[in-house]
Amino acid sequence: MIEVTEAEALILEHMPRWSGESVPVGACADRVLCEDVLAERDQPPFDRVMMDGIAIAHGDWAGGRREFESTGVQGAGEAPLGIERAGQCVQVMTGAVLPRGTDTIVPVEQLAFDGPLAHISAEAEPRLRQYIHPRGSDAPAGIQLLQSGERIGPAEIAVLAAAGRANVRVAALPRVAVVATGDELVEVGEPIAEHQIRSCNDLAIAASLSRHGLAECTRVHLEDDETELPKALQRLHDEFDALVLSGGVSMGKFDFVPDALEQLRATPVFHRIRQRPGRPMWFGISHAGKPIFALPGNPVSTLVCTTRYVVPAFRQAAGLKPWDGEWVRLVAPVDAPSNLTYFLAVKLHRDVNGSEAEPRPTNSSGDFVSLAGTDGVVELPPRRERYPTNSVVRLFRW
Ligand code: AMP
Ligand code: MG
Repeated sequence: MIEVTEAEALILEHMPRWSGESVPVGACADRVLCEDVLAERDQPPFDRVMMDGIAIAHGDWAGGRREFESTGVQGAGEAPLGIERAGQCVQVMTGAVLPRGTDTIVPVEQLAFDGPLAHISAEAEPRLRQYIHPRGSDAPAGIQLLQSGERIGPAEIAVLAAAGRANVRVAALPRVAVVATGDELVEVGEPIAEHQIRSCNDLAIAASLSRHGLAECTRVHLEDDETELPKALQRLHDEFDALVLSGGVSMGKFDFVPDALEQLRATPVFHRIRQRPGRPMWFGISHAGKPIFALPGNPVSTLVCTTRYVVPAFRQAAGLKPWDGEWVRLVAPVDAPSNLTYFLAVKLHRDVNGSEAEPRPTNSSGDFVSLAGTDGVVELPPRRERYPTNSVVRLFRW
């Protein structure tokens, strides 16, 4: 039996790295970037007018001139016009290129027009180069805008589009078989007898991986059949990039999963972690290098192990930057076991000092009903004394 931190380290050491794929920029939200992105051009690419108004030579105004003759109107996207001599201006719109020979924008609110003549109001005091967004002032061409390993959100999409990237290289989403094992399990929507159980772990695992944007999951139900289980797992292994199983890893008469996985020539990396819940977890790597997570079937155990081990493993495999973790303060004391790591469900409350975690213990690892409305679990390493109120502990969000 190993400790939580050893289990985590072993998993991360054995995880493969998913390959990259090219996707259209409009379809890459929430994916993980797997290339560095450089600025295609200066940003902005020209001296950009920031207000609707007129463009003048500041020296004219400083010399006392208040009336300017318009040489034309220039909107965004038009090739720049210009002025030829003193006393001229160009009427410009936001987003236009600064006209040749001008260096200052006077906004329309400070102007009165009389045919082609623009009068600058007496109160206006235009500063040299006002309302001009200088070329290259945000980012010069060639500079790195985005780094491999970043999660792509709306801001990153805007940057990618501005950098002219029609297609973007992102980490491929692994195809994961999420396998619920157990003769007692019945899929939602199917008729159910009193002695049977609705299968919920597979849906919860798939929801977790898809919420974190880390996998495309296919759910499968397998029975506790000693001869059929290895064959079915072999087929799933060949078809998918990774397997996440629930159930059948404990000491029961029908817990065939570890044996079945070894028959498929998967190397067990560990079996059992000194923790509660989730102690019987098994992790191994197939002969083809595919990761296999076999989680205990109790729904709280499944969710804790998915959150604590499977999600970080898939984050790393996608090339996401290492995660700094998140810490919260306990709002109530907790008596933690002295000989194992305890995972406790919590509800978060935020105040100006950060996040506070209200313990929401479950009745047992079978009591997933109490998990509704919680935000995640805190990890409480073994210790002899109780964790007092205000203890700062590590949080793993569902
Ligand atoms: P096992 O790990 O197979 O011994 O299962 C432990 C407990 O979890 C048993 O009460 C199972 O009925 C329950 N269980 C196993 N798999 C699921 C599932 N997919 N959904 C809901 N409960 C499950
Ligand atoms: Mg079972």
